[in-house]
Amino acid sequence: MPSIFSRIVSGEIPAWKIYEDQETLAFMDINPAARGHALVISKAEQPDLFALAPETLVAVAHTVQRVAIAIRTALEPDGLNIIQNNGAAAGQVIFHYHVHLIPRWEGDRAVRLWSPQPADHDELRALAEQISAAIQ
Ligand code: 5GP
Repeated sequence: MPSIFSRIVSGEIPAWKIYEDQETLAFMDINPAARGHALVISKAEQPDLFALAPETLVAVAHTVQRVAIAIRTALEPDGLNIIQNNGAAAGQVIFHYHVHLIPRWEGDRAVRLWSPQPADHDELRALAEQISAAIQ
């Protein structure tokens, strides 16, 4: 069963398309966090960042920047969040790789994803070592 985004790629489900090339598609999010909220997806149906081929990630990154520039030109927001959820615990609902582009305005209703809190420096050092050791 193709994902809902693959059905948008094939034209089976309509979407408000912004831009399309061989590997990527950009369209408006149907339930926007803020005015102008857009999605960039890989046409290849991969669930998340971990499954994506590096070349596809590069293609998506190019489209993200192109669409971000277009949003800035067209809508003139005060800022722009790029968000990409991996896994249900991270808020992912559609398991087809996609990047959120969320224009931000001073005082808008979208919220910051986290509340910054100081961490223990020994723990930060240990975490950096642990992650660094896993770099492939
Ligand atoms: P996630 O939570 O998986 O990172 O985000 C999925 C996003 O896809 C949500 O922001 C949701 O509003 C959007 N979405 C879900 N179904 C559709 C649809 O059929 N059309 C469009 N344009 N966006 C959708």
